[in-house]
Amino acid sequence: MKKLVLASANPGKLRELSVILDDLGYELHPQSEFGVCEVAETGTTFVENAIIKARHAAAHTGLPALADDSGIEVDALDGAPGVYSARFSGPDADDVSNNALLVEKMRLVPPLKRSARYRAVIVFMRHAADPSPLICEGNWEGVIQLDPAGEGGFGYDPYFYLTDRGCTSAQLSAAEKNQLSHRGKALRELKRRLIEKGV
Ligand code: IMP
Repeated sequence: MKKLVLASANPGKLRELSVILDDLGYELHPQSEFGVCEVAETGTTFVENAIIKARHAAAHTGLPALADDSGIEVDALDGAPGVYSARFSGPDADDVSNNALLVEKMRLVPPLKRSARYRAVIVFMRHAADPSPLICEGNWEGVIQLDPAGEGGFGYDPYFYLTDRGCTSAQLSAAEKNQLSHRGKALRELKRRLIEKGV
């Protein structure tokens, strides 16, 4: 098995990625196992932040690294909250305060202009100085609704309405969400590209 470091301590991400990478002969280890702490996400794009995180993990472990970054982009807010999705309502933000702020802003936007999308980027770097990291992206289109619906998912899901499904992403099963989501798409793209590259 080839060792890979994941620039995240999130057990959900570790699980999701491990399933895919196991099949390909990779053994994924969280960066915390090597005493690597989180790096500041100073980029203004998902790609920049994912690269910053992957490079940091690779530099501190000497291993190839994987990192992801994701968030929601709302057209009427010029793409905000974007890379600030987790901290939209401030340094002490949580899902409740972020969603409350989103709804407050969207009340001023006409219903037909409430389009949004989730974006996920996953980066694979062979080493810290890798000049051509593998960059895999996934998008998921939706519309922001003002009243929450559904108990599944996390973050903005109860407000992310899927026009073609007639429900929010919080009303999907985990398997359905994985099939349709930005992260699911980026993960499948990563698998395809790793196989193609034969890394
Ligand atoms: P990160 O990529 O773990 O930093 O997540 C960024 C933030 O984007 C999360 O904290 C959520 O607010 C939001 N986000 C990303 N993906 C999803 C999703 O699938 N559902 C709901 N919110 C999401």
